[in-house]
Amino acid sequence: MTTTPLTLQEIESLAKTTLLANGCDEENAAAIADTIVRAERDGSTSHGLFRLPGYVKSMQSGKVKGDARPVIENKLPAIVSVDGAHGYAPYSLQCALPVLADAAHKTGIAAMRLYNSYHFAALWPEVEYLAEQNLVGLACTCFKPSVAPAGATQAFFGTNPLAFAWPRVGDTPVVFDMATSRLAKGDVMLAARDGHDLPDGTGLGPDGQPTNDPNEVLKGVLLPFGGYKGSAISMMVELLASALTGDQFSYEAELQDNNDGGPARGGELIIAISPELMAGDGWADHSRAFLDKMASFDGVRMPGARRHNNRQDTGTRQINTSLVETIRGLS
Ligand code: NDP
Repeated sequence: MTTTPLTLQEIESLAKTTLLANGCDEENAAAIADTIVRAERDGSTSHGLFRLPGYVKSMQSGKVKGDARPVIENKLPAIVSVDGAHGYAPYSLQCALPVLADAAHKTGIAAMRLYNSYHFAALWPEVEYLAEQNLVGLACTCFKPSVAPAGATQAFFGTNPLAFAWPRVGDTPVVFDMATSRLAKGDVMLAARDGHDLPDGTGLGPDGQPTNDPNEVLKGVLLPFGGYKGSAISMMVELLASALTGDQFSYEAELQDNNDGGPARGGELIIAISPELMAGDGWADHSRAFLDKMASFDGVRMPGARRHNNRQDTGTRQINTSLVETIRGLS
């Protein structure tokens, strides 16, 4: 793979310029570009510049509004309701997460539903934001079907990511953010592009048989992680991110979507909990001792540590050259 070195500033500028040239207003372009540059900075490459052509396609097709203004309601003290107004999620999240954090600091626990929105990014930015406000964060969203429930050979669940962050006073939070499929679809697409085999158990080909070939899995189905246990968690994500937000299940999203290469419309549920109000004084030291003990075992690395280490490197990032050329061609 040929790569092109880009500084973080060049990545942000390339993303923002491209979005502005294709229908985003200043606020939405800045919020999406920020999401993209943070993904590249942290090494979440499947949700960085790689997604930019998809963002553009969905504005060109008229599916997503690049100038959407979210409508935020906080009528019940512990519930924040956000109508994404058919825009991309980053600007809605930028506007609404402070409202959610404020509600959780007052009530101890608050939940936010984001609906009429298009999520095409990683989820760790939203839970990490909450942890930076000394809140525990949990977030999940759905997508179009690409994952077979345990026992089935046809797609029904999205790759349905679930993210969690726990605050550590004076330190980076502990964060996990994972698709509930064995691999995220973006990683299968990257493996197909770069000619890599997939790990065992990633998916089935169109004949319903297990395969390690990413191109066959893209024609067939992904599998949940951990068999029936991951399948149950993916089902939970469908219920939380769709039924509880009032938006579409993955199978409903597929029926509505125009398949333009961008994300389908869907909901996101985010829960914020104040450990201070819930557990009282001492929560920070108590949980810190647990996490430090866990991290002390040989072979253990804490989820989120890879990204947080990558973040220390402020130098250039190596971006796939054909992707850079594709993006430059969009503006
Ligand atoms: P990974 O399997 O790469 O990682 C999942 C989590 O496990 C991360 O928090 C990671 O931390 C942690 N982890 C990885 N390896 C280890 C290890 N050896 N020990 C301890 N922890 C580890 O992520 P996925 O491929 O499942 O998901 C990738 C992204 O795709 C997510 O950000 C998700 O939000 C996104 N996604 C978005 C969708 C959408 O619709 N918007 C749909 C599906 C996925 P670390 O980050 O530090 O490596």
